[in-house]
Amino acid sequence: MARQETDERLGDEFIDDTQDCAEREQAHRERGTVRPITVVGHPLLHRECRDVTEFDESLASLVDDMFASQRAAEGVGLAANQIGVDLKVFVYDCMDDDGVRHVGVVCNPVLEELPAEARVLDDNNEGCLSVPTAYAELARPDTAVVRGQDASGRPIRVRGTGYFARCLQHETDHLYGRLYIDRLSKRDRKAALKMMAEGTPRYETLPND
Ligand SMILES: [Zn+2]
Repeated sequence: MARQETDERLGDEFIDDTQDCAEREQAHRERGTVRPITVVGHPLLHRECRDVTEFDESLASLVDDMFASQRAAEGVGLAANQIGVDLKVFVYDCMDDDGVRHVGVVCNPVLEELPAEARVLDDNNEGCLSVPTAYAELARPDTAVVRGQDASGRPIRVRGTGYFARCLQHETDHLYGRLYIDRLSKRDRKAALKMMAEGTPRYETLPND
């Protein structure tokens, strides 16, 4: 039953997040302020964020700050709790495996369950601005569909393949309090944390008390 519902939804329209990427990203980040990035151990990174219910100017200005912070840290995706804000919002500026750039915002994201035949695992490296200087191999489905709302509250669906699919899953995970290292084996998680301890981030982070 669930699978049939999914198939019907897959027939719906996806947003086109590939137009005017450079202009849109630049406009956001020029209005925004760069904020320091929270790191593993910050309480907001380890619990589910609050739903967005007000699609107002303060949300728009948060989105601007997120684009500014994402660019400063050279990220391809950023969740609100990574700049210390307890709201289900993420932004992205990410290439898919065809070299097509995607720029957008998703509020209240939910990953759609894809039919098993549509799922091919891809075990590329993954990293996270909140686990600076570390990376690890992590298998994830190479296609993802996220349902949610844009910054004005309009319902949207975003589809990603390859690296962009990984990004959509990674950012949605963040807003439910899950880091990619939480999906690793104990040993790989430990290795990632060791890499983080030994490295120096190239962007400003918020120290944990
Ligand atoms: Zn991350």
